Amino acid sequence: MSVRHAGVPDVQWSDWTWQMRNRIRDVGALAHWIDPTDDERRAIEALADRFHFVITPYYAGLMDPGDPECPIRRQVVPRLAELHDAYGVADPLDEVAHSPVKNVIRVYPDRIAFCVNNECALYCRFCLRKRMVGDDEWSMKKRELEEGLAWIRRTPQIRDVLLTGGDPLVFSDERLDWLLAELRAIRHVEIVRLGSRLPVTLPFRVTDALCRVLEKHHPIWLNTHFNHPRELTPEAAAACDRLLRAGVPVGNQSVLLRGINDDRQTMKALCEGLVRMRVRPYYCYQAQLLEGTAHFRVPIEEGVALFRWMRGRTSGFAIPLYVLDTPHGKVPLTHAYVRGREGDAVVVETCDGRTWRERNPRAAED
Ligand SMILES: *Cc1c(COP(=O)(O)O)cnc(C)c1O
Ligand code: SF4
Repeated sequence: MSVRHAGVPDVQWSDWTWQMRNRIRDVGALAHWIDPTDDERRAIEALADRFHFVITPYYAGLMDPGDPECPIRRQVVPRLAELHDAYGVADPLDEVAHSPVKNVIRVYPDRIAFCVNNECALYCRFCLRKRMVGDDEWSMKKRELEEGLAWIRRTPQIRDVLLTGGDPLVFSDERLDWLLAELRAIRHVEIVRLGSRLPVTLPFRVTDALCRVLEKHHPIWLNTHFNHPRELTPEAAAACDRLLRAGVPVGNQSVLLRGINDDRQTMKALCEGLVRMRVRPYYCYQAQLLEGTAHFRVPIEEGVALFRWMRGRTSGFAIPLYVLDTPHGKVPLTHAYVRGREGDAVVVETCDGRTWRERNPRAAED
């Protein structure tokens, strides 16, 4: 089903610049879409100077007006629970300490995350980069982008550059074209990846003109961020289809969120819906110990059990790798299927829970 428009004419509704100009930023505007609860109203006020409250009309159209537990609503509308988080910190991955120059995050020898833009179309309550997104101090002036590019130019180990933010697709086509051309001109940069939530939150941004810019600079890969099957709309599917036709492989990185996608059927429906759109589930992140997000966290054991349950019950490529990000890189959180060795055999657990002994003689020693 297409997203409801609330009477906005199609030409405006499907114009991404109209969507950006008409974003919801206060309770009054939100009340056109849903009936905000007392908790939501008070949270919008109490959190106003802590983290941005901004929603695109398109994404607001996905919210259930009568259900405060709506999985779309909970991702973007503040709740008082954000004020009660005993363990969350601002920068759990210590990204600032891993930045050789502003907004270049290097954890691995061969690849970086380059936060080229601090803005997003909307702001997710569980955002890992809460400390910086939407904050002017972290915006990137052209000179600062050039400093990042200069660092990449003089660091020949970097073969993979992930443009992230914020959201790099909030940039104009011209700025993106310039940035991609600069990266392409660096001999050792083999691939460029984009991390963007716009196919989910503002799919009209993926215009034919944008796709023509991207395909000039291949190999370009893109990972987006769907968290719930309700986000898999015809509009979002069309945006992913345009990217795929332009030769950009599209992957998905979700976050495991309590009450949003942590039950088995919801996660399975999300992943199967993604592969129907030819989007490959790549990672599902454990929610970090990030300030104001205690109400979203799922114990790691439950996450491991969820993805263990999926194995064998759906297409292998519909199952993302469940990971924990750490200051030292991403750690796969998987069930231990390899149980150990018994003589000449290795004992494994099959996906239906049986024990299997695979003859596996040790290499002959000579
Ligand atoms: C996630 C991440 C990458 C990319 O990691 P892959 O596992 O290759 O997808 C690179 N740099 C940083 C800092 C990251 O957080
Ligand atoms: S779109 Fe991504 S970077 Fe932007 S607020 Fe949401 S999670 Fe954070």
